[in-house]
Amino acid sequence: MPARILVVEDEPAIQELIALNLEQAGQHPVMAASAEEGLRRIEEELPDLVLLDWMLPGQSGIELARRLRADARTRALPIIMLTARGDEEDKLRGLETGADDYITKPFSMKELQARIKAVLRRRAPEITEDAVEFHGLRLDPATHRVTGGGETLPMGPTEFRLLHFFITHPERVYTRSQLLDQVWGDHVFIEERTVDVHIRRLRAALEKSGHETFVQTIRGSGYRFSRP
Ligand code: CA
Repeated sequence: MPARILVVEDEPAIQELIALNLEQAGQHPVMAASAEEGLRRIEEELPDLVLLDWMLPGQSGIELARRLRADARTRALPIIMLTARGDEEDKLRGLETGADDYITKPFSMKELQARIKAVLRRRAPEITEDAVEFHGLRLDPATHRVTGGGETLPMGPTEFRLLHFFITHPERVYTRSQLLDQVWGDHVFIEERTVDVHIRRLRAALEKSGHETFVQTIRGSGYRFSRP
């Protein structure tokens, strides 16, 4: 699944260059020219990562990063700051604001990709290609295959994404709205009942190896993935 990367950058030339590069790397760039526009894009659809320019017209990148960290919905959103300044003090201030990393302009596209991959691996393991395992259940994004107790478990693409998220985020309760944000990337246009439908299908797919009991309903809250 391509990572949705929101690029908040007001210089058209840099914006274009980054967008082109992200597309070539198989990612899905979403562009915004100001902090305000960036915030609107995030409200529409939660990205997997934000590339955030420090110097923006209107609200600065730092202020936007601070806002994202203060909001429960966007608190864990990975942020890489783009800065034209090489000043150590500014870098520290950027990291204090809650940015996961920073890149000083001018930067190479190779460096940008390396930073993006490192941050995603750390903050959002469900969108990397690394195979993951949980108590006998194995999911491999590269081959798009799930096995449980040695058996292949066929499932649809949404169930696959849901399981990928669960295996990389076990033992925590997620509301339907949070799952829509994290797995569908959209909490506005899809009904919460959709989550229940796919949870049911996921459980059915996991029955063959007896892992269906790992998908637990937490009454009044949502769902948790845990060994019973
Ligand atoms: Ca700028």
